[in-house]
Amino acid sequence: MRLFALLALLLAAGLSIASAPVVAQPKSAGAPDPKLIEDLVVGNHVLADLGVVDGFGHISVRHDKDPNRYLMSRSMAPALVKADDVLEYDLDSVAVDGKGRALFLERFIHGEIYKVRPDVKAIVHSHSPSIIPFSVSKTKLQPVYHMSSFLGLDVPVFEIRDVAGTGSNLLVGNPEIGAALAKALAGNTVVLMRGHGSVTAGTSIPQVVFRAYYAEMNARLQAEAIKLGTVTYLTQEEAAAAAKTNDALVARPWELWKRKAMKTE
Ligand code: MN
Repeated sequence: MRLFALLALLLAAGLSIASAPVVAQPKSAGAPDPKLIEDLVVGNHVLADLGVVDGFGHISVRHDKDPNRYLMSRSMAPALVKADDVLEYDLDSVAVDGKGRALFLERFIHGEIYKVRPDVKAIVHSHSPSIIPFSVSKTKLQPVYHMSSFLGLDVPVFEIRDVAGTGSNLLVGNPEIGAALAKALAGNTVVLMRGHGSVTAGTSIPQVVFRAYYAEMNARLQAEAIKLGTVTYLTQEEAAAAAKTNDALVARPWELWKRKAMKTE
């Protein structure tokens, strides 16, 4: 009798393995704090309003109930994102319940960074234009003023050819490229992507939006300053001190940006 039960169990297990889908459907971590969804929607609209993203680019936030999940919209223009468009992903960037909706091709940027950077709670990927020249030249992006002090003095540039060869479409379209990008970011706040754009990491949605915006502003100002001659950059100590001060002030521009971006609805 016992042997029969064991055989039945083995048979059932074998059948369930045989019929299992190739990619296991991840379980939901449960409903996130509604405030997190609201901030994510606002973050999408603010980034579009500030010109950091256009029809392309995305922002995500780590799930407040489970560090192994993150939240991001389905594939769409950030300015059009509503709460209903927000999906939950596991760190392999598989949607918990995609409902057949299109997902961002570059979602692996987010999952692979969340895997290796437990301190990171929010991420922006954009093609903001002023940063691009610094991704394709030998001139390093460096803070020229206090607002961009979070950049630090050694902003890395990710060269996709190192992982995907010389014939890629430049997109972070699989976990392997995502992991290489996360490795290039290392402990920094921003990584440039050669011939493509940048990724900004932060500890909250308002802070990562602040950083993505002022990284773009710094690129614009640095290029202007270079035209005038020799540039004086922030020292490591100045950058660290100013970044600490600014982190406490993120709520001020956030409230302004939020009001402007959501008023145009
Ligand atoms: Mn991109």
